[in-house]
Amino acid sequence: MTIYGVDSKEYNQTINDDKSDHRLSIWYHPIYTSGIHPDARFPRDRYTKLVDKLTTPEYSRKFIIKQPTEASRSELIIAHDPSYVDNFLNQNLTEKEIRRIGLTPWTSQIIPRTLLLMGGAIAALEHVMENGGIAGNMAGGTHHAHYDFGSGYCIFNDLAVCSLMALNKYQLTKIAVIDLDVHQGDGTATILQNVDEVLTISVHCKQNFPFRKSESDYDLELPADSGDEEILATVAKALDIAEQFNPELILFQAGVDGLATDALGKLNISRQAMSKRNEMVFDLAVERLIPTLVFMGGGYSDPIDHTIDAFGDLFLSASRANNQFLSKIDSEASDSIN
Ligand SMILES: [Zn+2]
Repeated sequence: MTIYGVDSKEYNQTINDDKSDHRLSIWYHPIYTSGIHPDARFPRDRYTKLVDKLTTPEYSRKFIIKQPTEASRSELIIAHDPSYVDNFLNQNLTEKEIRRIGLTPWTSQIIPRTLLLMGGAIAALEHVMENGGIAGNMAGGTHHAHYDFGSGYCIFNDLAVCSLMALNKYQLTKIAVIDLDVHQGDGTATILQNVDEVLTISVHCKQNFPFRKSESDYDLELPADSGDEEILATVAKALDIAEQFNPELILFQAGVDGLATDALGKLNISRQAMSKRNEMVFDLAVERLIPTLVFMGGGYSDPIDHTIDAFGDLFLSASRANNQFLSKIDSEASDSIN
């Protein structure tokens, strides 16, 4: 018997192969590192070091690393002032605007880097909208970018662009942004302030940047030096709020700058608790079958290796959860056929 001209045995084999391919799709481009000047204070090597780790034989079978294409102007203006976007693209930002962003000194590569980084987030969104499960961008989480200016290493806001794209292009009606970076997601909060369909939750350290905080739908502030127990209890609260909202999509800003070893973050979380934090988010995603996007966020340990280890843990947890998520979808689908 043949189906569509293909021998049925082969056809079934193809289906089985597809089903067993539950690797985590992650978007990455070498320009994530090379697009930042080597003299910049930002630890640009973290991207190459992380991709080296995730492509070692120990890890590589768990991931598909995909190359993004550049985001377009029309995608950026979903969440940003067209004049700000044009000034950036035409290299017309003022010195002051550039200083507020950081990542200096800038090279012309900052433009393709930014567009590819945004493209990585958009591609990951498209992927989970088509396939369900979890996907990620190996950069981004640019939550300090506002509607018409950038700040704190962030030029355009990938969380806001993906949220609004999920509403406009994919007709979702409930999206939760869960921002667990040590810094408040101030840009995300202001851009999405009047968008009822998007719930913004930020768990962050009160004494960290930005010093003038914006208003998320829920801000769960922690004092400096909070440790594992207090942080995990607060994350649990944040996840309860998210779950009650009943979202169709989670955007997870997974910054690891709350680590005790971080040079900027003032929280005191251990590597184990950081990993537990991530598992808690992914457990919610799997339990309720909510497609989830992972944005890397901050991480500035000195030496940087602690940050890389924590991001490695993050993507391993995401990969495990994605596998569980897709297996659950597969078994539900076969239950409904049988
Ligand atoms: Zn941060």
